[in-house]
Amino acid sequence: MSSKSKLKVIPLGGVDEIGKNMYVVEYGEDMIVIDCGLIFPKEDMLGIDLVIPDVTYLLKNQERLRAFVFTHGHEDHIGATPYILKQFGVPAYGTRLTLALIEQKLKENRVSQQQVPLRVVEPGDVIELGKLSVQFIKVNHSIAGAVALAVHTPEGVVVHTGDFKIDYTPVDGGVIDLNALAMLGSKGVLALMSDSTNVERPGYTMSERKVAETFKGLFEHAEGRIFVAMFASNVHRIQMVIDSAARLGRRTCVVGRSMTQVTKIAVQLGEMVIEPGSLVDVDDVDLLPDNQVVVLTTGSQGEPMAGLTRMAYSEHRKLTIKSTDMVIVSANPIPGNEKFISRVINQLYRSGAKVIYESIAEVHVSGHACREELKMMLTLTKPKYFIPVHGEYRHLCLHAALAGEIGVPRDNIIIPDLGDIIEIDKHGIRKGGVAPTGSVLIDGLGIGDVGNVVLRDRKHLSQDGLIIIVMAIEKESGMLVSGPDVISRGFVYVREAEELMEGTKNVVRGVLANYDRVEQSDWAHIKNKVKDDLHKYLYDKLQRNPMVLPIIVEI
Ligand SMILES: [Zn+2]
Ligand SMILES: [Zn+2]
Repeated sequence: MSSKSKLKVIPLGGVDEIGKNMYVVEYGEDMIVIDCGLIFPKEDMLGIDLVIPDVTYLLKNQERLRAFVFTHGHEDHIGATPYILKQFGVPAYGTRLTLALIEQKLKENRVSQQQVPLRVVEPGDVIELGKLSVQFIKVNHSIAGAVALAVHTPEGVVVHTGDFKIDYTPVDGGVIDLNALAMLGSKGVLALMSDSTNVERPGYTMSERKVAETFKGLFEHAEGRIFVAMFASNVHRIQMVIDSAARLGRRTCVVGRSMTQVTKIAVQLGEMVIEPGSLVDVDDVDLLPDNQVVVLTTGSQGEPMAGLTRMAYSEHRKLTIKSTDMVIVSANPIPGNEKFISRVINQLYRSGAKVIYESIAEVHVSGHACREELKMMLTLTKPKYFIPVHGEYRHLCLHAALAGEIGVPRDNIIIPDLGDIIEIDKHGIRKGGVAPTGSVLIDGLGIGDVGNVVLRDRKHLSQDGLIIIVMAIEKESGMLVSGPDVISRGFVYVREAEELMEGTKNVVRGVLANYDRVEQSDWAHIKNKVKDDLHKYLYDKLQRNPMVLPIIVEI
């Protein structure tokens, strides 16, 4: 058997991080990719809009790639599709809502359907992709249409859970297909790749039904307007809010681009049913009495541009929070967003409104399985080998330990690092090499053109500011004819620092005094000397270290 005819699993994203999920499964001449997500930039990636996986490995093995297969429509699973899918031209498979959300993204980025064929599947379907076949299995999660995947290979079955939880009473009535998972388990699962997000939480994730009950109680007691902030993609919860509102004679106003868009798509696909007369346009909200209004908006993470944030700070063009309003923040802060959302919550309190959030009432439940559910998944599928995925490093370690407790032998568990080429056969599971991986940064229309050097400069500028020194030299005589002029941004306010600016000019004049006439060959030397002397001078004066840009113009 050639080394190629091995079963390999490669995480190109999604391990050691929660985001940019992308997993390769390959056997011999056939390869599929599961998910194609993004991650939001870290704080030190100044000006970067988003981050996507490095797909060098896929480009190198392009002729073997059969398809992209999607578990669900969250950004960390589909967010990189507009940048990556068009490079390959292979079909993308997913459930209706997932593909509708991908289609929307492709359209916005002017990628045509010819470039990327989209193929809708139903939970339960099996598709053939060369020697691999993929079975879609319904799971519960915080978005409709979420599936786990069973990839059948000549070596055995690899189950990838996708993001999941076990909800026996979901609001849409569709329970995770435990039966299908158990059947795979009884026939024998070679390897399980499972969602590690909530491995630190004991017990079970509460049912979405719990949120519905909390909302019912809150809505019944509200006297003024009700505002609900949540993720736009949670269509079941949007439906629940609209229904709860309608039952109490309130009409719902859906605000914000992403919220309106997702609602529209979900209704078109039949994932959501909106009774006529249950919605109200944002322009007509003021025509209704306050106790007949519910406003649904984004901003549950305190994002500066989102609806709730603007309304809290009276920056929304239509709606402002007032003291008689009730505001429900129906989400959990994504790690890193805590300070944003707490700022917004403080501002909401300042407006006098009644504010309800996760630590006050059960207005949110997670979309991810807690420990007991993870154990259930391991028990039902009974995998020979286990690979924890979708988690930061500590989550992966804890999930590996949990699998150990359930009885998976230690040697049969791999804690993956990004790019690990994991080989699986009947003799064992091992890391057999490393594929190129990394982060491709997106800034505006630029894909990958901002690297470490640019980021370092941005950081320097953002922390210390900039001083530009302009010196005009007459070509004929080589004499300084004007300047040095000093321009400063983000360093000191020039008008209030005249002495410092004069000192700065003197330092530059001091450098130039060493030259009777300036030849072009001296320019580099002069610039370096100006930089060095100014750094010393400014550090002595202020203990600051701005970026210094000397410019010599010849006139
Ligand atoms: Zn998800
Ligand atoms: Zn996810």
